[in-house]
Amino acid sequence: MVTAITSSQEAIDLEDNYGAHNYHPLPVVLTRGEGVFLWDVEGKRYYDFLSAYSAVNQGHCHPHIVQALIDQARELTLTSRAFYNDKLGLAEKYVCDTFGYDKALFMNSGAEANETAIKLARKWGYTKKGIEDNKAIIVAAKKNFHGRTTSIISASTDPSARKNFGPFMPGFEIVEYDDVPALQKALANPHVCGLWIEPIQGEAGVYVPQAGYLKTAAELCNQHSVLLMMDEIQTGIARTGKMLASDHENVRPDILILGKALSGGVLPVSVVLARNEIMLVIKPGEHGSTFGGNPLAAAVVVAALQVVANENLIENAARLGEVFRARMKRLIEKTDLIKLVRGKGLLNAIVINDAPESETAWNICLKFAEHGLLAKPTHGNIIRLAPPLVITEEQIHECCDIIEQVVLAYKK
Ligand code: PLP
Repeated sequence: MVTAITSSQEAIDLEDNYGAHNYHPLPVVLTRGEGVFLWDVEGKRYYDFLSAYSAVNQGHCHPHIVQALIDQARELTLTSRAFYNDKLGLAEKYVCDTFGYDKALFMNSGAEANETAIKLARKWGYTKKGIEDNKAIIVAAKKNFHGRTTSIISASTDPSARKNFGPFMPGFEIVEYDDVPALQKALANPHVCGLWIEPIQGEAGVYVPQAGYLKTAAELCNQHSVLLMMDEIQTGIARTGKMLASDHENVRPDILILGKALSGGVLPVSVVLARNEIMLVIKPGEHGSTFGGNPLAAAVVVAALQVVANENLIENAARLGEVFRARMKRLIEKTDLIKLVRGKGLLNAIVINDAPESETAWNICLKFAEHGLLAKPTHGNIIRLAPPLVITEEQIHECCDIIEQVVLAYKK
């Protein structure tokens, strides 16, 4: 019986032998994290340039968040929503005040928050917009990523998310992302209750729509009485240099969907925010989750959002994002290996100049790891680069030096 891991290979073998093969991890076995750094079981230190897909914006094991977790864990962790608890209301008020909404509904994973948004939009469609029973449509975008549940993958256009997982849930119409005429056409259908989009498509490869797209989308939703459902699970909570990526265009979604960094990566928490007239369509018994709104998560959420404000993470992401992209643009002038850099704040990607199915991005990430920086390709030959937002300017430069060194030395 193995009780402790003594080498990376041992941990990799255990996961391979006993775990489902639903991920393809980089061969690095991590044991400790602090701020922007991770350490493997052999003691090697890495810069984290993935931030658990933007869940650890506040940095690994942030002491203020961990303290809130420990303090609350000693008092009360879970009661279920069968009763009130003395932390949930505080967290609900905190998120409503922070993001400017009337009501909050806490869940656990990002996928669950999106499921919640789908139910809200549909029920609003039937009870407020007057859509005929079972005819509601939600418009989603090509290349979206909202999670992995069966209803969410019903709106996916990614073959690997869908193949052999049908039959799919009806009620979605897919339009091209960043295409205003496609939206104009789709939203005019009176059966449409919601437009469900990401303000920047993260998993698709940090695809930033043209300036004005979100604003126009919001106006079209308003014009056609359609709810704008914004999935800010990856882009929200300071990641793009604003509290929400929607803030770049002063857009206020009707339904805001958050997860990941809402807990600073300490435990799974997600939330859906909306105005009263939307949120209150859901009545007791119609939706819920045993762990959703637990006092442990509630205490952690408040602490995690306090860190964002106290440590000026929004300003840091905005400023260092500029530094990072400027360095990458200079690198592109020196190499043919990278086609472009794109992103906002500290959510960025470099696009590798090779066929999407080639191994180049993966191999570059292996080299990054050798040089002490962890990043992972997203779709095709795109490498997302998203460090914790507590990174300093000096550290960003050090990381850009690593990226530059690896890229310039890389031989296909
Ligand atoms: N929505 C977006 C935009 C995401 O990036 C993700 C995860 O990467 C999700 C939803 C799903 O979140 P979870 O993995 O917590 O279910």
